[in-house]
Amino acid sequence: MPNRPPAQDDTAAQLAAITQARDVAVAANQAKTRFLMGLSHEIRTPLNAIHGYAQLLERGAAISPSEAGRIIRRSSEHLADLVEGLLDISRIESGVLKLNRETVALRSLLEQVAAMFRIEAGNKGLDFAYNVVPNLPVWVMADERRLRQVLINLLSNAIKYTETGSVTLNVRYRSMVAEIEVVDSGIGVAPEDMERIFLPFDRGGGRAAGVAPGIGLGLALSRMLSQVMGGDISVKSAPGQGSRFILKLLLPEPNSPPQDQTRGLPIGYDGQRRTILAVDDDPGQLALWQELLRPMGFNLFVAGSGGATLSLAELSRPDLVLLDVSMPGLNGWEVAQRLRDRFGRSIIILMASGNAAELVGAQARGLPETGLHDGFVLKPVDQNLLFEQLGRHLGLTWLFEGAATGPAAASALPEAARAHLAELARLARTGHIRSLSAALAALAAAVPAAQPLVQRLTAALDGFDLAQFQKLLDEQAQKNGETG
Ligand code: ADP
Repeated sequence: MPNRPPAQDDTAAQLAAITQARDVAVAANQAKTRFLMGLSHEIRTPLNAIHGYAQLLERGAAISPSEAGRIIRRSSEHLADLVEGLLDISRIESGVLKLNRETVALRSLLEQVAAMFRIEAGNKGLDFAYNVVPNLPVWVMADERRLRQVLINLLSNAIKYTETGSVTLNVRYRSMVAEIEVVDSGIGVAPEDMERIFLPFDRGGGRAAGVAPGIGLGLALSRMLSQVMGGDISVKSAPGQGSRFILKLLLPEPNSPPQDQTRGLPIGYDGQRRTILAVDDDPGQLALWQELLRPMGFNLFVAGSGGATLSLAELSRPDLVLLDVSMPGLNGWEVAQRLRDRFGRSIIILMASGNAAELVGAQARGLPETGLHDGFVLKPVDQNLLFEQLGRHLGLTWLFEGAATGPAAASALPEAARAHLAELARLARTGHIRSLSAALAALAAAVPAAQPLVQRLTAALDGFDLAQFQKLLDEQAQKNGETG
């Protein structure tokens, strides 16, 4: 083979490099043009709706004001989403997005999200399954709002792009990495769209646009967020065969579980008595609020309708209102508006709903978007989350059982725990950490009521503090002996 002179080689290489650089620049420019076109389309559609309905109202046209109001509100929410999404993307791209690093109750967060989407799926006639491995930590370090945002995006897409069949959430955990899989039996993604769908404003060339409305920002943002959270999102799919979105995230466990959370539910709070007004048209729900809140020492008033709320609020001057969203007559949002008009921000308003759809949009955007409410409570009520929210909004210091004798004070456990505790005591004397962890897992599985104790023991074990471990076991044995 004749050798080419070196000079010619150089020129060819330079030419190839220039061509490649040009292709990259052209592609970047095209992406920018697509982005701007997508953006203006996304802004124009809701703006047209707002403009059109505003003109109709101005002219006094025969349209229902509540219908016009609903469309204008939806359109402006859509615009607010868009602005939020764009700001997030630019924060990430310029590296100024600050992630919180907080202790997150991962299991309870996932359960809450699964509960929301079980209802959503049910409303659409889809089956919903949630599978989680037993070794998933109770607590991890993460940015809760961002984590929830990504989960909500993947799950709402799965439901949005599935007409029949099922949506499944699978969660696994191995050496600090959580693998969260959202599987659906929906329209699927074409091979040529696999990467495109992760670009801003790109909804793929497939059927998505005909199936459901969307901005095409959710996946772009979710992927970027998952990358800053030390992970990524990938997808496996084929048209008509459903999709499997896989979110991997680095979610390390904290060194020890947060103090307050290891003590179970509070029994009351410190300081001045607070007043809560609970509003619901369902007497069963009102009875539940009474059962949950009265024993905690709240001054509780209940109203069975939106109409009764205002006068009762006037009389009782509550610190906080728990307000059902959907009620006949005045609905929760209308009542919230009147409460704000009358009392300003001196009252904390938590909206309660069993319908995830009413919460998803606002949650995904980050609360609160309208200023009408301070937070949401999802029904059925998760007591831990409820008390966490009440504590945060009312600035309460919760009291726990046995607090006078220190946070670690134990309560008696069922008989089934006895053999496990004896085994733990035996292993503690040998100091064999691995066997101790296995025995703790066995206790947690066999006796759910032992969860708080298991958490405290695990914390001691994680810190190799066998003296503390022994002390906790002794305290427990004493408690069981006293009452058992
Ligand atoms: P949007 O849903 O607003 O269009 P996303 O960024 O969340 O925006 O999704 C981008 C595109 O990815 C969608 O338009 C759709 O084509 C595709 N997609 C996302 N999730 C799914 C899914 N579960 N099944 C099929 N296609 C999906």
